Amino acid sequence: MDQIEWINLMSDTVTRPTAGMLQAMFSAEVGDDVFGEDPTVNALQEKAAQLFGKEEALFCPSGTMTNQIAIKVHTQALDEVICEQTSHIYQYETGGYAYNSRVAIQLLSGQNGKLKPDQIKTAVRPDQDWLPHSALVVIENSCNKAGGSYYTLEEMEDLSKATHSAGLKFHLDGARIFNVLAETGNTPLSVGNLFDSISVCLSKGLGAPVGSVLIGNRDFIKQSRRYRKVMGGGMRQAGYLAAAGIYALDHHVERLKEDHFRAKELGQVLQQLEMVERVEPVHTNIIVFHLKEPKADEFLRKLLRHRIKAVALGPATVRFVTHLDFTEAMLVQTLRVLQTIE
Ligand SMILES: *Cc1c(COP(=O)(O)O)cnc(C)c1O
Repeated sequence: MDQIEWINLMSDTVTRPTAGMLQAMFSAEVGDDVFGEDPTVNALQEKAAQLFGKEEALFCPSGTMTNQIAIKVHTQALDEVICEQTSHIYQYETGGYAYNSRVAIQLLSGQNGKLKPDQIKTAVRPDQDWLPHSALVVIENSCNKAGGSYYTLEEMEDLSKATHSAGLKFHLDGARIFNVLAETGNTPLSVGNLFDSISVCLSKGLGAPVGSVLIGNRDFIKQSRRYRKVMGGGMRQAGYLAAAGIYALDHHVERLKEDHFRAKELGQVLQQLEMVERVEPVHTNIIVFHLKEPKADEFLRKLLRHRIKAVALGPATVRFVTHLDFTEAMLVQTLRVLQTIE
């Protein structure tokens, strides 16, 4: 067997269940969740709803599904969704907003992926037969494509006011909301009441193998269950997976700060390398940096020789993401490799 460990900085989705998490999965009590009879799924859903101060939650196979369901419930055909141009719902969900919900999308250009309340006010359309009907604002926190930047609680409050006073619904793509909360010290409860619905990924930095939760009020979740079913997301003994989610929420939230600390260290060392033009500010667990020459692929090949994996975001742009399986020893090793590479 291969004894040398790989260091994987491609994404925070690459984590594998820890021994403790596997134990929790093995010993989960399960039932048929399509009938609402899986006690572990129910426990996860209650826990997630309570954390954010909402009535109910729904366990789904992916964050794409939770976002797509939210768009579906909050809109009808001929409506329009307003979001930032780097949003996951626009960039990485296969155009699902159009396919599933038959809605238009209005892309706004934010700073570091972040919108301002005034932008929402001007984006809302007057009520005319020939215009799409503004129905929903979606923000992402942290902002994935924008390099892990985040909205503060105050910024989310201002956007919530602007959205709701215009009569629109407000959805949080909170795939990495716990990274934001770890960084700012705010509670999920303080965020919950700002949004009509919240999507949280358990399979990113929290380290669960599969799954996301969609959180909202009773009526919203009741409708969401129907759409989850029609999208093929009704799972049977899903409690084995939900157990991993519960374990993640209990054990892997506090430690997200370590990922941020390691990301900042990587950023500092990268900034000093001869071949690096610029490192984007490191806000949470994502590091995006630009090489002086368009040789990202060559750079990645060199890293591979040292058993380090990462991804290119462009010809000269590389991304590292820190996570649960990127240990202190791996940080030391990575820093050493970076300093020898030419
Ligand atoms: C990962 C991610 C999602 C959901 O992705 P899945 O792979 O479908 O679980 C949604 N939004 C953001 C910002 C993400 O990073």
